[in-house]
Amino acid sequence: MAARFDAIIVGTGQAGPALAARFAKVGMQVAIIERNLFGGTCVNTGCIPTKALIASAYAAQLARRAAEYGVKTGGAVEVDMKRVKARKDAISARSRNGVEEWLKGLANCTVLKGHARFESAHAIRVNDELISAERIFLNVGTRPHVPPMTGLDQVPYLTNSTMMDVDFLPEHLIVIGGSYTGLEFAQMYRRFGSAVTVVEKSPRVVAREDEDVSLALQEILRGEGITVELRAECMAAEKRGERIVVKLDCDDGMREAVGSHLLLAVGRTPNTDDLGLQAAGIEVDGRGYILVDDALRTRVDGVWALGDCNGRGAFTHTAYNDYEIVADNLLDGANRSVRDRIVAYGLFVDPPLGRVGMTVNEIRRSGRRALIGVRPMTRVGRAIEKGETQGFIKIAVDADTKEILGAAILGVGGDEAVHCLIDAMYAKAPYTVIQRAVHIHPTVCELLPTVLGDLRPMAE
Ligand SMILES: Cc1cc2nc3c(=O)[nH]c(=O)nc-3n(C[C@H](O)[C@H](O)[C@H](O)COP(=O)(O)OP(=O)(O)OC[C@H]3O[C@@H](n4cnc5c(N)ncnc54)[C@H](O)[C@@H]3O)c2cc1C
Repeated sequence: MAARFDAIIVGTGQAGPALAARFAKVGMQVAIIERNLFGGTCVNTGCIPTKALIASAYAAQLARRAAEYGVKTGGAVEVDMKRVKARKDAISARSRNGVEEWLKGLANCTVLKGHARFESAHAIRVNDELISAERIFLNVGTRPHVPPMTGLDQVPYLTNSTMMDVDFLPEHLIVIGGSYTGLEFAQMYRRFGSAVTVVEKSPRVVAREDEDVSLALQEILRGEGITVELRAECMAAEKRGERIVVKLDCDDGMREAVGSHLLLAVGRTPNTDDLGLQAAGIEVDGRGYILVDDALRTRVDGVWALGDCNGRGAFTHTAYNDYEIVADNLLDGANRSVRDRIVAYGLFVDPPLGRVGMTVNEIRRSGRRALIGVRPMTRVGRAIEKGETQGFIKIAVDADTKEILGAAILGVGGDEAVHCLIDAMYAKAPYTVIQRAVHIHPTVCELLPTVLGDLRPMAE
């Protein structure tokens, strides 16, 4: 006989634990299952540890630049990788233990450790135990994607997960993938002291962004001594003695990157292949993401999918928002949907990129008439005072409705400043509201009204 619960939640990432707590609070009997580390990707191998490492890398960089600020240091800057890792581990552990203790301390919540697999639409096996519920919530996340690449089975490689165990300085790190994850690792290791080569198959890094953003990022990275190899359309890996070689052009073999370590940062694969979805009749798309409607219901009655595994978001904040949508709809009779969500995210290189809404390329494709405001960070007082003037602010608004369509703030504080625009967009306020707001001096945000006061028609 299967033990019965009111709700079963698979995975303790960014949606599962909050959902368990909310259900348990209203008296539902909940089972939550985790096969690996409590807190999932963000806590253990994603956002939290990478941002902790980036903070160490920033400290190293600032120490190298200390003289620019009139500060004397005692000679060359050295990075102690064991201490960098220990600091990162402590920060991750604090979150991980917090999630575990929270869940285990919840009344009405049973925490099961093991791999969950469907036996039927409403029954799941964990180890030797069979449990069932009318309502099942999948929050199983994703793992690093390993691309089919000639020779990759012959060379050792790292992923964002195994990078978490690195407590030494790679002499030369080759990063395959010039997108968000790849660039964060590339810059942090360069700042720790490694030689770094980024290999990207597109003609520019973070190709989803506008060209000006990609070019500014390339300039920032190259300025720090990172080699950026673009248009590596056909890659192959091989071991040459102790070195790892990545061939960038399989036809003529002329271009290659040679290093000591290889990091793969080429996207994610959903953890849906070993969940027994077929036994439940739950459908996935061609890449393995669980098909859901706008309220995150799968096509099987009583089964929902939240977080990265549903392919509707790829961030901690979108996974958490999935929890809010599902919980409010089920418990409060709300009618929330992912369609109400505005795209927003950060790229946490230094200086960071804060993004919201459409890119200018997307606006062009949409056929809307837009006005664009741009200001380089060299004309932002706060950036000048801090000695961090790389990047720019760019805001796009609808020429007819005055709504804010999108923004990219690449520059010091850009990840925070973009929230002025995010909130105005959620409030559906016209940009003129921000234009008349009195912001605090000296901040990056204080220039947003100025940028909005100097809008030009978008080039065709
Ligand atoms: C290097 C890196 C940096 C990132 N930085 C950021 C950032 O700065 N900001 C941001 O917003 N996002 C960032 N992300 C993305 C963010 O980490 C994810 O969007 C977020 O963790 C998704 O959470 P989730 O709840 O969907 O799944 P996850 O956090 O992946 O959790 C899924 C959980 O389910 C468990 N599980 C899977 N299958 C089973 C099973 N069959 N049985 C039992 N348990 C199972 C897993 O062990 C895991 O604990 C980053 C990601 C990476 C890789």
